[in-house]
Amino acid sequence: MPDESKKTRASAGKNNADKAGGGKAATAGKNNTDRASSGKAPTAKGRKLRERPKGKIGEVWVVIECEGDVAAGVSWELLGIARSLATDLGSRPAAVILGIDVHCQELARQSFERGAAAAYVADHPALVPFITEPHCQVLAALARKHSPEVILLGATTRGRDLASAVATEMETGLTADCTALEIDPESLLLRQTRPAFGGNIMATIITPGHRPQMATVRPGVFPLPETVAGATGDVIASKPRLAAQQTVRRLEFLPNPEEEVALQGAHVVVSGGRGMRQLKNFAMLEELARELGGVVGASRGAVDAGWVSPRRQVGQTGQTVRPALYIAVGISGAIQHLAGMQHSDMIMAINSDPTAPIFDIADYGIVGDLFEVVPALIAEVKKRKAAAAKGESVKTS
Ligand SMILES: Cc1cc2nc3c(=O)[nH]c(=O)nc-3n(C[C@H](O)[C@H](O)[C@H](O)COP(=O)(O)OP(=O)(O)OC[C@H]3O[C@@H](n4cnc5c(N)ncnc54)[C@H](O)[C@@H]3O)c2cc1C
Repeated sequence: MPDESKKTRASAGKNNADKAGGGKAATAGKNNTDRASSGKAPTAKGRKLRERPKGKIGEVWVVIECEGDVAAGVSWELLGIARSLATDLGSRPAAVILGIDVHCQELARQSFERGAAAAYVADHPALVPFITEPHCQVLAALARKHSPEVILLGATTRGRDLASAVATEMETGLTADCTALEIDPESLLLRQTRPAFGGNIMATIITPGHRPQMATVRPGVFPLPETVAGATGDVIASKPRLAAQQTVRRLEFLPNPEEEVALQGAHVVVSGGRGMRQLKNFAMLEELARELGGVVGASRGAVDAGWVSPRRQVGQTGQTVRPALYIAVGISGAIQHLAGMQHSDMIMAINSDPTAPIFDIADYGIVGDLFEVVPALIAEVKKRKAAAAKGESVKTS
C-alpha cells in the first residue's frame, strides 16, 4: 500500500520522489510473453513472496498505455476488472501512468472516472515516446516500493513487451492473453485463465509464491466500465531518476502502411468464413457492413485462404470484439473463433448446415445458402433505410 504520508487527493501536485535509477536495465524488445507464462518464476533466482503485515494486501495495478493524454481502450477495460478483483481482495484498484506531467495529470483524472482509487504517476521526459527500457525500470521500481498484489497490462504490442520485461526484472510469473481473471476466495490468489494447447483447453494459472502476480489481457475481453464524472482518488506522484545512458533510442517512427481495421469498437461486425468460397464474394459482406454502419471481419478459415487480411481475423489468435451486432456468415463456430466474438450483444449466424456449432451461441440463426440470404438481407436493409428516410414504416417480410 502506498505511504500514506506521501499521497495527495485527486489530480493535485507531486510530493513523492521515487528513484528508479537503481533498477537493472531490462533488455528492450522482449516480447515472448508465452515463455514467461508459467505460474512460477525460476526457483533458483526467484524472489519469494515478501512477508506482509497480516491483513495488508497489495493493490491491483493497471498500467495505463497512452499516447500523449489518450489512453488505449484496453487500459480502461482493465480498470473495470481491477476494481472487481480489488473488491474481492479487500484492496483497491490503482492506475500506473508513466509519461510527462501534463499528460499524466489528465490521465490520472480519467483513471479516477473509470474506477481507479489511486494513480501512481511517474513523470520523466525519457518516458515519452514509449521505449521498453525506461518504462521497465520505472515500473519495476514502483512495484518494488509499493508491493502491488497484481499488475495488469493490455496484451498489445507495447503491453506484451513491457509486461515480459518487468516480470523478468521482478522474477515473477506472467500469464499472457488471459480471457478470465478472478480471485480465489480461499487462497486470495489471482486465477488467470487462458486458452492452452491450441485452444483445446482453458488453463487456469496461479502464481502462488511470487509477487506481483502479472497478467496481460487482449483488448475487448472485458467490458468498458462506466465513467463516474468528477470521481477523485489519491495521486502518488514521483520524479524517477533514470540511468543517463539508455541503450535504446527511438530515431524515427514509421507507421504500419497496412490499413487499420477498426474492428474493436465497431458497432456492427459482419464476418465471413470459409463458406464465402472466394475473395470476390466478400464484396457482398462489405456492402452489408456498409449499409449497417459496420466493418468486415473474418474467421481464420477465410484468412488462411488468403481472402482477407490477418488484421481482420476474429478469434483466439485474432482480435476480440464486442459489437452490438455480430453477423457470422459461412463460419462454422470453432471454439477459437467463438473466443473472439462470444461476448457480442447480439449474434446472428447464417449457415447452410443446421448442426454448425455457431448456432449454439447465436441469438438469431438463418439456415440457408449465404449466397441467397446475404443479398436478401442487403435488399431488406436498403428498403428499410429508404422508407425511414421518407418517414414511412416497413412491414416485416
Ligand atoms: C491455435 C489455433 C488458433 C486458432 N485461432 C483462430 C482464430 O483466432 N479465429 C478463427 O476463426 N479460427 C481460429 N482457429 C481455426 C479454427 O479452429 C477453425 O479452423 C476456423 O475458425 C474455421 O473457419 P471457418 O468457420 O471459416 O471454416 P469452416 O470450419 O470450414 O466452416 C465453414 C462453414 O461455412 C458453411 N458454409 C459453406 N458453404 C455455405 C453456404 N453456401 N451458405 C452458408 N454456409 C455455408 C459450412 O456449413 C461451414 O459451417 C485457430 C485454430 C488453432 C489450432
